[in-house]
Amino acid sequence: MEKGAKAVEELIEKWKVKARSSIKQGEKRKKLKLIWLELTGCSGNIISLLNGIDPELEELLMNHIDLCYNNSLMTAEGEAAMAQLFASAEEEFILAVEGAVAMQDQRYNIIGRYQGKPISAQEAIQYFGQRASSIIAVGTCATYGGISASRPNPSGSVSVAKALQTMRQDIVQLLGCPCHPDWFIGTLAHFMLYGQAPVLDSENRPILFYGITIHDNCERRSFFENRIFAERLGEQTCMIALGCRGPITKTDCPTRQWNSYLNWPVGANTPCIGCAHPTFPDGTAPFVQYAQRARGMEKRGQHNWPSKKK
Ligand code: SF4
Repeated sequence: MEKGAKAVEELIEKWKVKARSSIKQGEKRKKLKLIWLELTGCSGNIISLLNGIDPELEELLMNHIDLCYNNSLMTAEGEAAMAQLFASAEEEFILAVEGAVAMQDQRYNIIGRYQGKPISAQEAIQYFGQRASSIIAVGTCATYGGISASRPNPSGSVSVAKALQTMRQDIVQLLGCPCHPDWFIGTLAHFMLYGQAPVLDSENRPILFYGITIHDNCERRSFFENRIFAERLGEQTCMIALGCRGPITKTDCPTRQWNSYLNWPVGANTPCIGCAHPTFPDGTAPFVQYAQRARGMEKRGQHNWPSKKK
């Protein structure tokens, strides 16, 4: 098994052992009830979840979670889907939210119609957020506003926590544009196994996945230490002078990797753009800066060019 999948796989395995033993003891195994709302975003996080392979989404849905509502995956549509959504909230459930919450105008983001009334993103987060036993904010839009709230933000989009006007202790923040499938599945596995979220840091991110910076585990770190910096894309050395945001971005991308544990941005020769940083995208842009420009900025005292090895 790939190194990156281990932590999630261990959690799922523990859950399976626990489930088997409760079946043996004649207890009825309860699936975790999950409602997934797609608010103001691009649906990239649910698409990313479909790429999960360890375990695959199919296994998750068959054996571990009861996904009561997700407008991209469910077969029901229109009023019937909305009726299912509201009925599901009558029992205990965990709420996953992707996308920011548009606050400027109720009509900006309507998630559906229920009993003839349009339900806005803002109304949905208030109603379901207050009833959920826990909330998982999935992706950078849900956690910090992300691209949906970037300048000039005509929709007045804000994060889930801001829309609820609180950083509830139980809002788990899974940053990333998109969120890695393992970060979400691993968080769910922790809920299933221990009945609570994994240990969180001061930004409510699970330390399990967001404990250290990308820079700490980067395969090009030795070039950084030896001050050998790429001046053009395609050079196989440290890309800090090209704008790499690995030093300020906390995720386990270098060891976990993406697309079935195949590769990750720096491995594919592109700088980290800081998509899992709270200030993404306004605060981490430009995503690529050219060395020449950086040198010009340094002369004007606007940029600190890393010094070359003597
Ligand atoms: S490429 Fe980025 S993450 Fe890797 S060592 Fe350089 S600055 Fe750090």
